[in-house]
Amino acid sequence: MGDFFEVRDTLPGGRGRTGVIHTPHGDVHTPAFIAVGTKATVKAVLPETMKSLGAQAVLANAYHLYLQPGADIVDEAGGLGAFMNWSGPTFTDSGGFQVLSLGAGFRKVLAMDANRVQADDIIAAGKERLARVDDDGVTFTSHLDGSTHRFTPEVSMGIQHQLGADIIFAFDELTTLVNTRSYQEQSVRRTHDWAVRCVAEHRRLTEVRAHKPYQALFGVVQGAQYEDLRRAATRGLVDIGGFDGFGIGGALEKQNLATIVGWVTDELPEDKPRHLLGISEPDDLFAAVAAGADTFDCVSPSRVARNAAIYSRTGRYNITGARYKRDFTPLDPECDCYTCGNYTRAYLHHLFKAKEMLASTLATIHNERFIVRLVDQIRESISAGSFDELRAEVLGRYYAGARI
Ligand SMILES: [Zn+2]
Repeated sequence: MGDFFEVRDTLPGGRGRTGVIHTPHGDVHTPAFIAVGTKATVKAVLPETMKSLGAQAVLANAYHLYLQPGADIVDEAGGLGAFMNWSGPTFTDSGGFQVLSLGAGFRKVLAMDANRVQADDIIAAGKERLARVDDDGVTFTSHLDGSTHRFTPEVSMGIQHQLGADIIFAFDELTTLVNTRSYQEQSVRRTHDWAVRCVAEHRRLTEVRAHKPYQALFGVVQGAQYEDLRRAATRGLVDIGGFDGFGIGGALEKQNLATIVGWVTDELPEDKPRHLLGISEPDDLFAAVAAGADTFDCVSPSRVARNAAIYSRTGRYNITGARYKRDFTPLDPECDCYTCGNYTRAYLHHLFKAKEMLASTLATIHNERFIVRLVDQIRESISAGSFDELRAEVLGRYYAGARI
């Protein structure tokens, strides 16, 4: 796969770049926002709508699809894209994040709280530990029915081959910022050993299933907030060989995101794409791109939309506020989405108040388009040499505190 990824333009004096990822289901122009469709659906929105609002690719979760409906069913349907009627490129994550985060009963926000005391056996208050890690893999309890399951690198590769996404990820161990330094070291070693096993199993399955479209495997860099661990983990994964690209995962505090991504991209080859796993806000997008990330998945646009939170060029606001009851303007006057072209804030306010399903659909369309368009503009600004100006202008307005 020598021509899997092409770098096009680069940011002068920085790590950011534009490029194209070539997959069997089409190209992804980077930097690119990858919409999250956890259970093979972007919640509340048709795949055709995602395409028309400019989404280039969709990322689904191996953990969720393994539990329901089962990876074998997705395989029989012809793979993730065919199953969900999405003809474009697809990604799946390895399941490592969900197995460990859902298994330990915490969500990312809590897990990333660095102010807690360091400990290696933390779980969320009031939750039972549902996952146990050993050097061979992870045993966990399903959040759906309490049944016991086991993921190993080989199991994750088998599931992701059955799901058939164009880009898949090596099985890694998620740690949190509260884990001790010695645990992080042990975990980085374990993730490295698992990466070696993933490459071997991926090669075997690629041969066994040679009639299927090629799936690109990304290694996942862990190492939390430690520069030496992140750099060593990155070099170790590069030395394994056999990865088509790299994911940057794990514990990332917002204020250190650019620094940590920078350590990793410093050690990575230029000719392979880098995916940043799970970011959320507009300032994170700029920081990630400037630090050399090519793609990033982000559940926020649809998750917050279902809670009535609306992105706009002048900041995020909640449409259920009383001031929108008689506001007959679009969600964002500068937006070109289907929702803004046809509906008003007053109508969305009403739909959310009345708990109508259409509220989620229309708000999600708007938020997804907002992020897709912003990343499109970031990509264009790198080619045009105006990245710094765009960043200053967009973030200046977004975080000015003004609310329309
Ligand atoms: Zn809109």
